[in-house]
Amino acid sequence: MQIVRTLAALRAAREAMAGGATGDMARGLALVPTMGALHDGHLSLLTAARAAGYAVAASIFVNPTQFGPQEDFERYPRDEAADCAMLERAGCDLVWLPDTGIMYPPDGATVIEVGGPALLWEGAARPGHFRGVATVVAKLFGQVRPDAAWFGEKDWQQVQVIRRMTADLLLPVRVMAAPTWREGDGLAMSSRNRYLDERQRAVAPLLFAVLGRIRDAIAAGDAVGAALAAGQEALRAAGFAVDYIALVDAVTLQPREAWQAPSRLIAAARLGGTRLLDNIAV
Ligand code: AMP
Repeated sequence: MQIVRTLAALRAAREAMAGGATGDMARGLALVPTMGALHDGHLSLLTAARAAGYAVAASIFVNPTQFGPQEDFERYPRDEAADCAMLERAGCDLVWLPDTGIMYPPDGATVIEVGGPALLWEGAARPGHFRGVATVVAKLFGQVRPDAAWFGEKDWQQVQVIRRMTADLLLPVRVMAAPTWREGDGLAMSSRNRYLDERQRAVAPLLFAVLGRIRDAIAAGDAVGAALAAGQEALRAAGFAVDYIALVDAVTLQPREAWQAPSRLIAAARLGGTRLLDNIAV
């Protein structure tokens, strides 16, 4: 596994891989963008890319532009050595570790603003978040020049935003999504789960459980509004502050009042200072 920190080293590694010196480029190169603090959910993306026949590059960059001023950029967990060891064990071929100067040179003047699927939910709760995500992912695509990139369904809206951007800008990257990786009790794995104290950690799996209950209620013919309200109340009663819980068009993220394919149930809720996201197919 090669670890590179400069654009020149990245280019050299990329060329060596294309020449067959490293990895198996039969299908090409896949990129798994991350912010580090890796867990099995991240590794599942890498495994999916490898299983599809790609050589795999992972990037680790805690992207300041996708954090709001009151968010956890400073205290976001960082452990480069442990992350690289995990990536190596998982069969990663290349790790790209850009610094802020490479990603955001002082004379940089371009950002990517996505409308459509970026406007509601996370886009409304975290102004500027998807501008930061889209901009950094476009830059990563330009730096690494992958043939495909894997993202987690855990961040469902993010996947739709990146698909929209990639299509709109005609970027030659296949955007792939892999299922949410969960703890044994159902809690979606997240780097932020480590912020939860013991009591919050015990309550956290309820978010996924409630999404399942709402899905089942809708499938049984209950009104969507009533099913969502009951779910929201169950979360409130358990101590969550619910930012949103909604049935949406799975691609455009527009809210739906009745089930129609393809739909997704999405939710964001806070336990203390920790914001948890989850979503399921309906
Ligand atoms: P992050 O480091 O949080 O920016 O996540 C990097 C990538 O890993 C994103 O595409 C996430 O959607 C994905 N990811 C994070 N958690 C999970 C999970 N539990 N299961 C699957 N993918 C995940």
